[in-house]
Parts: sequence; structure tokens; C-alpha cells
Amino acid sequence: MKLGLMLNAVDPLIGGVLIMGHRGTGKSTAVRGLAELLPKIKFISGCAYRCDSDGSLCAECQRRADSGEQLKRETASVAVVDLPLGATEDLELALALGQTAIASFWDDVAGTFVDVAEEHGRGIATPRGLADNAVPSANSVGADVLLRLALLTGDDGLADRARSILRAVAPALDRSPSAFGRMLCAADRALGEPIDVVVAAGAGGDGRALRAAAARPYQPDLVIASVGDGDAHAAWPLFAGKTAREGRGTAYACRGTSCDAPTGDPEELERQVRSLNASR
Ligand SMILES: [Zn+2]
Repeated sequence: MKLGLMLNAVDPLIGGVLIMGHRGTGKSTAVRGLAELLPKIKFISGCAYRCDSDGSLCAECQRRADSGEQLKRETASVAVVDLPLGATEDLELALALGQTAIASFWDDVAGTFVDVAEEHGRGIATPRGLADNAVPSANSVGADVLLRLALLTGDDGLADRARSILRAVAPALDRSPSAFGRMLCAADRALGEPIDVVVAAGAGGDGRALRAAAARPYQPDLVIASVGDGDAHAAWPLFAGKTAREGRGTAYACRGTSCDAPTGDPEELERQVRSLNASR
């Protein structure tokens, strides 16, 4: 782990390091320790982007410099930033990103996403990524994400776009399935009945054990989503009536519109999720 972290500090193009381990085994401490070892950064005081005073300036710093302001420099340690992975507010962000992707990159003629945004001008033949390599193509990830968002939001228009992508690649999928690993996953999701687990978090934060239980069986098409009081997405159709019973975390395992009995017991939930799989 130490070597991995240090290599990333030397060459950020490596693209990161994934650290896995139980709680309390020092993962975050190691990352904070690494930040301590890194040289201090020098930047322009008051700049939100921490512009490098020796490099090119952001628009705001440029404006300050142009107006004759003497830009002051300061130094500080590299910041360690926590991103809220799995936080419930991610769902609104995911929907906003999906809508932005459609607004900028959807091509009605092709019926797929293309690689050039509308505002950057499209030529006669606009490239579009369809085949999957080590990095999946924009269209296969797009199809999968749109299907998930359609399930979460109840917006069938999103699923229609996903199916449009799958139709566009269907002949190629048939001929060369090995070039479309990720796209096949989206096709699998589109062909099956949607399955999902909604975890309504109780006051005691007991939703975590339920989410972990739902994720345990091999169930690649399962969508797991959390909802709490006051979440904006609580108004989406999938979450209607799915509340924490008696203040305890409660899970709802569903296929299509039919759901198993709500449960607060992780073992029972795991059993329910397994049988969603078996009876498919
Ligand atoms: Zn700046």
C-alpha cells in the first residue's frame, strides 16, 4: 500500500490507487500521512482554485492581475478531500449528470451518444464510441446508467434512449460479442425485469447493514438505493410508501412492481435478494 501511494504521488497519471480493508485498519490515516509527506503547494491568496502562482492563471486571478492588483502568494499542505460515495444525495447528482449528458452529447439521428458536444460543432461524420475495451465505451456506460435512472425516477424516456443505443449496436453485438463486454451487461439489464432494493434508513443509521446484505449475493442487475426523510428523491415513484418502519431501517426487495415483505433483518434481506435471482 505504501509503495502504491508513493508511486501515485510521483506520477499522478497512474490514475489512483484503490485501498480496501476493514474499518479501523488505518486506510484513511495512511492517506492523510501521505498528504503530510507531499511538498507544500504555493498558490495565489484568495483563489478558489488555488492557482499556481508560477503557472497560468484562472479567469478570476487574471482579472485581478489585469486590474493591477499585486497578487499575494501563500503556501499550504495538499488538501485531503472526502467524497461522499454512496451518500443519498448522489441520486439527484446522478440524474442531473445524466440529463446534462443527454443535452450535450445525444444525437437524435444516430440514436446514440456521440463524442462531440452539440456546442462544439458536429461534422458530417461525428465519432461515437460504441465498442468496449479495458475502458468501457461512453454508449455502453450511458445505456446502463440511463436504465438505472429510468428505474429510479420512473422516467421511461430515459429507458427509451438506452434501448435506442442497444438497437444501434445490436447487429455488431451479435457478430462480435467479445468487443462489447459492458454493452452486453446493459443489454442484460434491459431484457430482464428490473430488480431493486430500496433501503429506508432508520434514525439509528442501521441502513448500512441492510445495504451490505443486499450487495452480498451475485446479482449484477440489482439496483440498490437508499432513501431518508427529507431526501428530494423520496418523491420519485420508486420510493413511494417505502419508509422506515417504527424508526428502524427497512428494506424493500422488488422485481418490477411486486415486492417482498419489508424487512429490517439483513439475513432475511439477503435471502430475498438471492431468490430474486433464482426466480428470474
Ligand atoms: Zn486563480
